[in-house]
Amino acid sequence: MMNNQERVYLSPPHMSGNELKYIQDAFDSNWIAPLGPNVDQFEREVASFVGVKGAVAVNSGTAAIHLALRLLEVNPGDIVFCSTLTFIASANPILYQGANPVFIDSEPDTWNMSPQALERALKDAKAAGVLPKAVIVVHLYGQIAKMDEILDICNKFSVPVIEDAAESLGSTYKGKASGTMGAFGIYSFNGNKIITTSGGGMLVSNDQHAIEKARFWSAQAKDNASHYEHSEVGFNYRMSNILAGIGRAQLEVIDDRVRSKRFIFNQYKFYLSGLPGVTFMQELENTCSNRWLTSLLVDEDQGVSKSDLLNFLNEANIEARHVWKPLHLQPLFKGASYYPHNENKHVAEELFQKGICLPSGSGMTKGQQIKVINRILAFFTINDIYTGEII
Ligand SMILES: *Cc1c(COP(=O)(O)O)cnc(C)c1O
Repeated sequence: MMNNQERVYLSPPHMSGNELKYIQDAFDSNWIAPLGPNVDQFEREVASFVGVKGAVAVNSGTAAIHLALRLLEVNPGDIVFCSTLTFIASANPILYQGANPVFIDSEPDTWNMSPQALERALKDAKAAGVLPKAVIVVHLYGQIAKMDEILDICNKFSVPVIEDAAESLGSTYKGKASGTMGAFGIYSFNGNKIITTSGGGMLVSNDQHAIEKARFWSAQAKDNASHYEHSEVGFNYRMSNILAGIGRAQLEVIDDRVRSKRFIFNQYKFYLSGLPGVTFMQELENTCSNRWLTSLLVDEDQGVSKSDLLNFLNEANIEARHVWKPLHLQPLFKGASYYPHNENKHVAEELFQKGICLPSGSGMTKGQQIKVINRILAFFTINDIYTGEII
């Protein structure tokens, strides 16, 4: 053990210092409940930051996706399309509803849902007479999917879009905030996300009626009566007033957090993009990624092993990870349908083979980042691929 070497984490929580003030308010007013003024304010502040009419704060991003599926009346036996290159939480709520996922491959520019694969899948679904009830589009690592193309296609088939913007709060696409372009958007405030409440999420939409319904379901679906009256199934999904206080302080600094993450990405790119076989995730024109996690591809044909690199980083107490394993390859979804980008190109599988995520915490010090960069340069040097200087 190198006990004097602090571990460099992938994306640890980064507090602003203001969080305790809002927590203190909650204590002072004894609002220690899954409701309260911090929750109401946090909802208003997020809605105003991204530019939507309504928001409901819940205890996870996963819960927000679940509520969106219920609002779109996804029922047992229904079909829901979902990006395949994502974290399992994007698709688990499809199973909660007893529905069947169909996974859609990525395209190489954004690593997100391939419009051409989506269109093929929708054509097939229409021919079979069973259109999906929803399409869940993920904005991976902060990068927004090709939303113009995706929305055009989905509108053509009248299928609503849920944006899984869990990783992309603060990102924009042609001037619009991620999560605000589909019927519903969801954010996550899990500990590793760009801002955090330690655990939490939010559902947003311009359909205020739907948001009210989600708010009702998220607090056990209590009917309006002086006693406990229930006519629909509800959930215990509300966000706590204490955690919403953390979220309010975090949201105050989101612009700084995006700036830091983008700076970190640019540093990595500057020092590492010259390495043979290394390429970085792109950014589409007219979009701004929050660069939640710096992601790059390592081409093993150039003579380096990706897992050796991850181990080499781990030995130096640096946390780096494989990109998400595509959901259509997960044992949980064995047998589910999947549409590749095209017959000969399975983009998500290739990204999984080559992709890694580097430590990208917005609170990362210059020293920590230099350590990561040097360690990677050293790895390529040891493998006789890099002969330049270590910075
Ligand atoms: C984190 C994450 C979620 C889930 O959010 P939780 O708040 O952890 O439930 C969903 N989708 C993606 C893509 C995520 O990265």
